[in-house]
Amino acid sequence: MRIGIDLGGTKIEILCLNEAGDEIYRKRITSPQGDYQKTISSIRNLVINAEKATGRVGTVGIAIPGTISKHTNLVKNANSTWLIGQPLSQDLQSILKRDVRIANDANCFALSESTDGAGENFETVFGVILGTGVGGGLIVNGHALQGINSIAGEWGHNPLPWAGEDERFGSNCYCGLNGCIETYLSGPGLARIFENLYGTSISAIDIATQPDEIKNTVFALYENRLARALASIINVFDPDIIVLGGGVSNIERWYETVPNLWNQWVFSDQCDTLLAKAKYGDSSGVRGAAWLWPL
Ligand SMILES: [Zn+2]
Repeated sequence: MRIGIDLGGTKIEILCLNEAGDEIYRKRITSPQGDYQKTISSIRNLVINAEKATGRVGTVGIAIPGTISKHTNLVKNANSTWLIGQPLSQDLQSILKRDVRIANDANCFALSESTDGAGENFETVFGVILGTGVGGGLIVNGHALQGINSIAGEWGHNPLPWAGEDERFGSNCYCGLNGCIETYLSGPGLARIFENLYGTSISAIDIATQPDEIKNTVFALYENRLARALASIINVFDPDIIVLGGGVSNIERWYETVPNLWNQWVFSDQCDTLLAKAKYGDSSGVRGAAWLWPL
């Protein structure tokens, strides 16, 4: 069987696919925060338990935030910062006693959605994860672009475009810069809008339960920023479709409001790019991870 693991900032998910590609096992746990060794042992336990439950042995593909540096073989660019600089690939190969394949989570997500999800039958897809962090993956004719620096699609660490006066400086980002798109469009970025406006902090999920007036004010600012950030991708990559995943993608109004807003920044008389929600939900990345190994 093929085993996929999505190593996220808040959860780790495992999925097992049989030879026909059908799902035969799935489990999700909370990510150990700030602890690399616990992350490794959690992954080992997930694989052992999955193989015990299914009675099979599998290939292992893992979707991670960030990527593996070609120069050092260590993790770079992960918003789960406790992974940065760690020999994740070597450690997992030795603890699982097999080769593992590792790829960027947004690339796995975008590949899954372009293969048989919301981006199926489109030549070019930009897959976006709006979660603990913000990642992007560029798909052309069914293949994820890696890039010579393994950072193709990493739009979350560009600055927010067409920034207003109050957006110029922005919050500090773990990457060392400030005002990155990720600091505005991640779940914590959405929650920060509420905090700045109303002086108390609540989680991004709880904003949806606020009275209409409050909710609409917060969402209007967020979707304006999302439309600007996506317009900058459309101006460079001009994709057929943009697919959103991650926890923040579950807010339905983006799919109506954002394509109406982005026209004002897209350098075209009209914009035919579609915006869609991921078909496989916020766990689409785990399918792309399983597919890192061929049948
Ligand atoms: Zn950044």
